[in-house]
This record gives sequence, C-alpha cells and structure tokens, in this order.
Amino acid sequence: MDFTVSEETREMLNLMEQFVRKELIPMETAFLTKSFAEIEPEIEKKRKKVRQMGLWAPAQPKDYGGMGLSLMDFALVSEVLGQTPLGHYVFGCHAPDAGNIEILYDHGTPEQKKKWLEPLVKGEIRSCFSMTEVELPGSNPVMMDTTAVKNGSDYVINGQKWYTTAADGAAFAIVMAVTDPDAAPHSQASMIIVPTGTPGFDLVRNIAVMGHTEDGAFSHGEVLYHSCRVPQSNLLGPEGAGFRIAQERLAPGRIHHTMRWLGICRRALDLMCKRAVTRPIAPGKVLADKDIIQAWIAESAAEIAAARALTIETAWKIENFGFKEVREEISMIKFVVANVMQRVVDRALQVYGGLGMTDDTIIAFFYRQERAARIYDGADEVHKLSLARRILKPYRAKADELKEGNGVFR
Ligand SMILES: Cc1cc2nc3c(=O)[nH]c(=O)nc-3n(C[C@H](O)[C@H](O)[C@H](O)COP(=O)(O)OP(=O)(O)OC[C@H]3O[C@@H](n4cnc5c(N)ncnc54)[C@H](O)[C@@H]3O)c2cc1C
Repeated sequence: MDFTVSEETREMLNLMEQFVRKELIPMETAFLTKSFAEIEPEIEKKRKKVRQMGLWAPAQPKDYGGMGLSLMDFALVSEVLGQTPLGHYVFGCHAPDAGNIEILYDHGTPEQKKKWLEPLVKGEIRSCFSMTEVELPGSNPVMMDTTAVKNGSDYVINGQKWYTTAADGAAFAIVMAVTDPDAAPHSQASMIIVPTGTPGFDLVRNIAVMGHTEDGAFSHGEVLYHSCRVPQSNLLGPEGAGFRIAQERLAPGRIHHTMRWLGICRRALDLMCKRAVTRPIAPGKVLADKDIIQAWIAESAAEIAAARALTIETAWKIENFGFKEVREEISMIKFVVANVMQRVVDRALQVYGGLGMTDDTIIAFFYRQERAARIYDGADEVHKLSLARRILKPYRAKADELKEGNGVFR
C-alpha cells in the first residue's frame, strides 16, 4: 500500500492549516455566541478569500469549478478543516451540500444541473437532504411514510420529516419519498428535488439540540410536506432508485465524516495539552504533572493514531478496489472513530474542568453537537450488527462441522 502524500498536496494542506488557525479559529467566539445569520457576512468574506486562494470546493468536480481532489487527498483536507466547525462550510465542502452535489452530478439532468448544481458548487445557494421521518425509524429507512403521488404532470408530496439539516435558508431539498408502495422494499422510494419556496414546503421549526437552536447552515429542521406539488421533471435519477443512489453516496461520505471527526480529535487533544501544561494544580505543579492526565493524553494520542490509520487504509482501499470490497472497514470506521472522538472530547472537557462546560472554548460545542456521530450516518449498533453478520457468515456455514469438536477448537 502506498500512502505517500505528494509535495503539492502537502503544500495545499499547509495553506489550509494556516487558514484554519489564523482566520477561522479566531471566529469561533462569534460562532458560539451569535446566530448564523449574524455572522454570515463575516463568513462570506472568508469564503471569498478561500476562492481567491484557489482552495474552494476541494471535493467537488473540476468541470463545475471545484478542485476535483481524489478521495485520499480530500480525506486529508477533511481532517484539517474538521478542527473547527467553520472549516468545511468556509471551504465549500460541507454536508449536506457535498453529498447533494455528488447526487446531482451523477444523476441530474442537464436542466437540473444548470439550475441547482452550478450555483450549489459555487456556494451561491444551499441545499438540504430530507429523508428521516419523525414517526418511523431512520435506522430502517425502507419504513417510510412520505409519499409522492403522480397527478397530471406533477408529483404531490405528503409527509413529515425531521433532522433535515440546513433546511433553514436552503434553496431546495432532495426529498426521499415513496413513489411505488407495491415495489420491492428497496425500490419503493425516489429522490425528488423540492424548491423550498414551493407551497406546501413548511419548515415547522429548527430543532433544539441539547438546549441550543442553531439557524441557517448549522440548523436541523423539521419539515412538513403537505400537498407539496412539484413537476415530475424534478425526479432525480430513475423512479424507485432512491435507496440505490443513497447507497452510492455512502462510502465517500463515510470517509469525509470520519476524517472530519479525526480533525475534531486532533483539536481536542491539542487543547487538552495546552491546558494541561498551563493550569496550576498545586504550588509549582500543573495538571500535566499528574499521571492520570498524562495517561489520558497518551491514550487519546494512541486511539487517534489507530483510528486514523484504519480510516486512511479504508480510503486507500476504496480508491484502489472499489467500495464493495471494503464493506467491513466502512462499517468499522463509523463506530470506531465516532467513539474515539467522544472519548477524546470528553477527556478534554474534563481537563478543562468548569471552563470545559462553558462556551468559552469550542470543547462544549464538540461535546454536545458531535454526540450525534454515534446516531447519524447509520447508528453504531446497525454497523456493528452488519459487521458481525459478515464476520460470522463463514463460521455459521460450518457450524455443524465445528460441533464435532465438542467445544475444543484449535
Ligand atoms: C445531528 C443530526 C443530523 C442529521 N441530519 C440528517 C439529514 O440531513 N437528513 C436526514 O434525512 N436525516 C438526518 N439525520 C437523521 C439520522 O439519519 C437518524 O437520526 C438516524 O438514521 C437514526 O434514526 P432515528 O433517529 O429514527 O433512530 P432509530 O432508527 O429510532 O434508532 C434509535 C436507536 O436504536 C438503536 N437501533 C436502531 N436500529 C437497530 C438495530 N437494527 N439493532 C439494534 N439497535 C438498533 C440505535 O442505538 C439507534 O440509535 C440527522 C441526525 C442527527 C442526530
């Protein structure tokens, strides 16, 4: 396996790291204390600088104005940008737009690309992805109540979705809705573009997450679709292909997420160390002198390194063998990295004591916001079950033969 990073990539990562440190981290106090709407003009200035530096939209296709980086290179970018919640948004590669761009690029008609993809890659508009429903399990999305029924040349959509991230201020949603309830379970739903100004698209509220209600690009919306009528030409890809298309997004999306989480880990460890060597705990002693703090730092560094190695190897295998060959690793990195992140952020918060609970540092934001990592992109338990199923399959196949060993195996 060759994980060599080219000189060109190294220089780009260095530029991004400098930008994160000098331009974005200093903005975090405003980010933590003001609404998205209040800080948006300042964010736009930073985005303009990123464009001028030629670093805009690193993961997006070149023919639409992005940098067209490979999965491996973007993985490294995602880690650098993940150190601050503003990173991906300011560089034009944030969720859910990044995933929606991939869908539109691969499945959009020329008209859909002109109308939605072009301004989305440029960062002129925002979008959202509306799949999870309030009343049914997101973990089993074939159980879906939202319908899109043909009427004349339109679809009429009815349903209740939530956790439609960034719906507030989005120009359009990609909505997952059942178009054929009689089809096989994985062929029932389709993806449909719904402009958010359409009558019947009702953003009921921005959901409060652990006491904080974010707005704009950082919001999570509850959306009611009631007799929401859009032309059938808004169908994305073939009818009934919703799950297949969602599946295609999965592998690269997983690398983007986990590397962003590793960026958060890096930042949390850095903050932990800075606090440990400066916080006096007894005359002439700082926190870093205590064995238990040293153990947390060592454990965090080792866990991050192991999780990172697994993630980079998975990205490399996806690029070289295709995602079907790497299904086990794609499940593994989801729950391994999400849990490493949770532990590292928790230790950082503990080292900061009372200060860690405040919004005076970024740690509390990571702690409350990123707890969700064990839930979205497939709950950890679902990934563990599917991984164990695959591992156990050959053993189950020879279970009768194994029984002959009477419990003694070599
Ligand atoms: C911050 C955040 C952002 C999100 N953004 C979006 C978005 O932009 N668009 C969108 O459509 N959705 C989004 N979601 C929704 C997300 O995809 C769902 O929350 C997720 O799929 C889990 O579905 P659920 O919440 O309905 O939980 P459920 O499916 O009800 O599951 C609850 C719990 O049950 C357990 N569980 C589930 N299945 C099994 C099983 N088979 N075996 C054992 N245990 C199981 C797990 O512990 C799981 O956490 C977001 C969620 C969060 C928290």
